[in-house]
Amino acid sequence: MAEAKPSKKRGGHTYGRRNSQMSNTAEEGELCLFVGHGIGRFSEKSMRYDSHQACTRCVASAREGRLSFDVNRLLKKWRKKALEFWSNVEIGAPDECWNWNGKINPRTDQPQFPWRRAGIASSTQHHPQRVAMWLTWGDLGFSGVKTTCGNRYCCNPFHLIPQKIGVFVDHDSYHDSFELACELHTLKQQVIDYQMDIAIEKAEEGKRIADAEARSEARHRMMFDVDTDYHARFEAVLTDMIDGRHITQTEPDDSAMYTQSPIDNDQDEDCDDDTDLDGKPTDF
Ligand SMILES: [Zn+2]
Ligand SMILES: [Zn+2]
Repeated sequence: MAEAKPSKKRGGHTYGRRNSQMSNTAEEGELCLFVGHGIGRFSEKSMRYDSHQACTRCVASAREGRLSFDVNRLLKKWRKKALEFWSNVEIGAPDECWNWNGKINPRTDQPQFPWRRAGIASSTQHHPQRVAMWLTWGDLGFSGVKTTCGNRYCCNPFHLIPQKIGVFVDHDSYHDSFELACELHTLKQQVIDYQMDIAIEKAEEGKRIADAEARSEARHRMMFDVDTDYHARFEAVLTDMIDGRHITQTEPDDSAMYTQSPIDNDQDEDCDDDTDLDGKPTDF
């Protein structure tokens, strides 16, 4: 069989080539998702096979049949993204299908997960099975991925086989692996913590908004109450300004409220010469 030619083509419909053979030439590419896969210690580049933009180190470990659920093996900046992803997956037992609970494209009926991956794919939406592959088997670019279960909503990496890179799959040893069981347990816990954090954030945001509305409502009532004395008004305006929520600060462009252009009735010094000797102003 002829060796696939390295391709220089980037972006576009790169997924269209997912089923072609992986090239055997690599080039500097986007930094891999995994810690320690840069070219040098401080490099922002990883070596990637140019046909599929698969990280060469990730390909090597996938070929040996290594997969991992450990979010901490990812670069720090991607850990939250990974947890966001997994919080959309019904993580079950290793031999079960893990269904996608996230977004389904209403037009194509395909499950999708948003992730901007510059240098890997121009698309910002990815099939969750590919994302699950990236996070467990490795950053294999736009390599194809197939399921052993035939369920297109299944994101169980044990049911996912990256294509055309010679992945070694040994289900028995995966199911017996104590290390993988621990990683899976940790992942589930991290997803629960992540969901908790998100829920707390949302609740706090909601409370902040409600508090601000209540405060502004009370302020309104007080300012428009004819019985409010001058000192109370003055203090209210001052505290609002110090907190940065006075109307002149929050809506600086609202001309109706206060920003009528001031009219300067004084003449500038320069304009003195425009006055006639008898004191009559000249026409402009
Ligand atoms: Zn890698
Ligand atoms: Zn499955």
